[in-house]
Amino acid sequence: MRTQNCDLPQATSHLPLILVLNSGSSSLKFALIQPDSGEIVFSGLADRLTTAEALLQVKSAGGTRKTAPIPFATHAASLDTIFRSLKDFQIAAVGHRVVHGGEKFRESVVIDDAAEAAIATCMTIAPLHAPPNLVAIRAARKKFPQLTHVAVFDTAFHQSLPPYAYTYAVPYEWYEQHKVRKYGFHGTSHRYVAQEAARRLASAPENLQLLTAHLGNGASVCAVRNGKSVDTSMGFTPLEGLVMGTRSGDMDPNVFLFLHQQAGLSLMEVTEILNKKSGLLGLSGVSNDMRTLLVEKAKGHPRASLAVEVFCYRLAKHLLGTAAALDHIDAIVFTGGIGENSWPVRQRTLEHLRIFHATIDHELNRSHGAGAAGRITTSDSQLLALVVPTNEELLIARETTRLMKPC
Ligand code: ADP
Repeated sequence: MRTQNCDLPQATSHLPLILVLNSGSSSLKFALIQPDSGEIVFSGLADRLTTAEALLQVKSAGGTRKTAPIPFATHAASLDTIFRSLKDFQIAAVGHRVVHGGEKFRESVVIDDAAEAAIATCMTIAPLHAPPNLVAIRAARKKFPQLTHVAVFDTAFHQSLPPYAYTYAVPYEWYEQHKVRKYGFHGTSHRYVAQEAARRLASAPENLQLLTAHLGNGASVCAVRNGKSVDTSMGFTPLEGLVMGTRSGDMDPNVFLFLHQQAGLSLMEVTEILNKKSGLLGLSGVSNDMRTLLVEKAKGHPRASLAVEVFCYRLAKHLLGTAAALDHIDAIVFTGGIGENSWPVRQRTLEHLRIFHATIDHELNRSHGAGAAGRITTSDSQLLALVVPTNEELLIARETTRLMKPC
């Protein structure tokens, strides 16, 4: 492995900052955040890790961007490079995004040796994501032993689901012995936008019943009742639920046996296809990216059109189904790259929700609710729909500040 010797910008800041680390299966994102203002003073992304194309991109508050090739860099090696680039900043604490907290973690925790060991035991249920999370936690604790490290879990927000919402109708021993149940993911995003929607509606989260739709490459909906998640569309893994960039979402599990017998595919092959080659990509045959699909749809590409239609219909169906967890709906909140930016997707989805009597304000929808605190329905619509940009890093920084040891 080549040692990286990148010429990265190194600014000096005297503000106490929170370093947020988000270590995924093939990428590593970081941000230095001022938790009160939400200002990001320095951030970056190392992606395509372990491949010849691995690249580190960083951005300073002034907008200066730099990229550096880091061929074949591992998570650990890219962390070394990132840590070197942070040497002139005054870091107060480190917040880690952790994908899976199983049933052990109902909320964010300060990472001590016991918490680190407990996070490691969640590896069996998240074999793809937990190991990179752990690499980052171990490297950061070693590099900054004097700082408080906090784990913020994607699953924790959904630990308030009642048993009838998280239990699958399979032999109960599967749950007792193997912890097979719905966990739900994107909890940090659903929680952030629910809080932000409450702020915009001048209400307390405890007084609201919301449906939140996080629509990025991964996608999920959540029913947030009085500030707590009470149902969500992702399940034991992030594969369940909505149509996503490359994931199928809901599907009949008998397809495994059928494709094994008919096409000779192994369990591993079907699993890989359902996670990486299905969803918008599999349907369209063109792209997993909604922007591309909307362009192709406009040109009349039939499978791109079908992909967008299936995406919107499934989303509407899940929003309707998830509403069973609420007494009423104060607002539907759209977020994530697609939810924040793709007005045709929001329009089509709300059209499918005609049973809720949503009246779209087309001008506001096209401008993503600009000037109306994110509102995209008319002021007299029976259903309120909002666009609220997510900010998972800020929520992690705030959780970290909340749990920080006083200096
Ligand atoms: P991730 O889950 O990887 O964080 P994002 O939240 O960035 O993903 O969402 C990525 C998705 O958002 C892609 O499908 C992309 O096409 C879509 N997207 C981003 N900007 C737009 C836009 N202006 N119009 C339509 N879709 C958009």
